[in-house]
Amino acid sequence: NATSTAQDCIFCAIVARQAEASVVYEDETVVVFMDLNPVTPGHLLVVPREHAVGLEDLDGATSAHVWSAGHDMARALRRSSMGCEGINVLLCDGAVAFQTVFHFHLHVIPRYAGDGWTL
Ligand code: 5GP
Ligand code: ZN
Repeated sequence: NATSTAQDCIFCAIVARQAEASVVYEDETVVVFMDLNPVTPGHLLVVPREHAVGLEDLDGATSAHVWSAGHDMARALRRSSMGCEGINVLLCDGAVAFQTVFHFHLHVIPRYAGDGWTL
């Protein structure tokens, strides 16, 4: 089975559609949804369907797909009418690096002049 589901993992629950999320894109490998507490309007999370905690346990093919989807999302945000003038793509691997949900994810964060967000 290509999709492992961790017990008590909120992102696995979202991927399985057992928890609510505003999904904006999905395919056979990733699900992209709105962050529950966006740091700027349009803040997205790109999540592999398969449970992996961090870079150590994410396989290369899945990683490539996640980053490619992140690129697509960033391009779509830049082309949208939201007034997005820049993008941060952020990966937090490990608690010391501010990871709080231990299912791998990329943040795609649209930036606006004067939005005030600092890392
Ligand atoms: P981390 O610090 O692990 O890189 O980021 C976790 C992100 O997941 C945070 O930005 C947080 O707002 C978001 N998040 C946590 N729980 C949920 C949830 O249940 N649904 C959604 N959509 N986002 C969540
Ligand atoms: Zn998970």
